[in-house]
Formats: sequence, structure tokens, C-alpha cells
Amino acid sequence: MCGIPQTTTELCQECATVFPAFTALRSWGLYEGALREAIHKLKYRNDLGVSEELARPLSALLTGSGWHVDLISPVPLSRKRLKTRGYNQAAMIARWVSFTNRIPFYPGVMVRSKDTISQVGLSGEERRLNVLEAFEANPAIATGKSILVIDDVATTGATMQACALALLKSGASHVYGLTLARAGHIHIS
Ligand SMILES: [Zn+2]
Repeated sequence: MCGIPQTTTELCQECATVFPAFTALRSWGLYEGALREAIHKLKYRNDLGVSEELARPLSALLTGSGWHVDLISPVPLSRKRLKTRGYNQAAMIARWVSFTNRIPFYPGVMVRSKDTISQVGLSGEERRLNVLEAFEANPAIATGKSILVIDDVATTGATMQACALALLKSGASHVYGLTLARAGHIHIS
């Protein structure tokens, strides 16, 4: 369900421990090499132009997924983080995917109500607790909708899980996740 590459059809360890609230989470590539570099450009070097190029494979992934999606939302940044960076890198990508796949873009469906510390360097359990209840969704937009949440990188899927819980609590029918890259303990078992 969480998209960690594996050769068996059983649930992975993460999904077996905490059953995902989202229907599926998929990533385009591994967080390494040129993809990692491109994400860094988008995220830390204000290279917004790269977002269009990065969104292209995600659009194709969505087209081939067979998922029914009513609206698209980025993983929101906290107000503080947004102020520092000036833009939400996930929203830059999500907007292009929305435009290409002709699915409405609704960044207002969720807000990040809790200012969390960076997930980098935290264990799976720490990540879960760190983002727990960090997001709040708007039932006026979410109710009855199948929602695709887009982010730049997923590691354990804890952020996506927190988003899915908030959206489902606010009445969403399904939540899907797409990220550009998958980081961390990639294991082929
Ligand atoms: Zn899994």
C-alpha cells in the first residue's frame, strides 16, 4: 500500500504495523542521484522552473494509475515555513499535475495547523508522533471527494498518513498519495 518496493504481495512491515489510512501511495523514483539534486534545486535553491519538468513523470504515473481522483492538494507547509521559503515546493509540482491531468487544484482543502520539526533523522515511530494531528482539513471541500495528495519526498509515509487521517476525518471518500521520490530504507525482500 505504501509503495515500498518489494517482491512479495504481502503488506510491508510499515503497513502491517500501522495500517495506512490512504488507499495507495506511489513514488516516481528513488531519492538519489539526479532526482535528489533536482528536488534540492526546487526546495532549497528557489529553482521553481524545475517544477514543470518534475511534474511530468508524476502526471504520467497518475494517468497510468487507474485512480479516480476528484481533486488535488499538496502537503501543506506551516505558515512559518511558508514565510521562510516563500513558496510550497509540493504545491509547485501539484499545480502542474493538476493542469496536465485536468483535475481541480485545491490547496485550501488542508492546512498545517501544527508547526512540526523536520522529519530528517527521526525513526519511524518518531516521525509518526511528530506529524500526528499536524493537519486539519476543510469538510466543505473534502466531503465525498477522492483526494490526491502530492509531496516531493516520502520516507515512511508518516506525513501522507497524517494527511489522509485529517482528510478522511473531514469526510473524504478516498485519499491517494503521489511523491516524486522515495527516501530511506528501500528494501527489496
Ligand atoms: Zn507498506
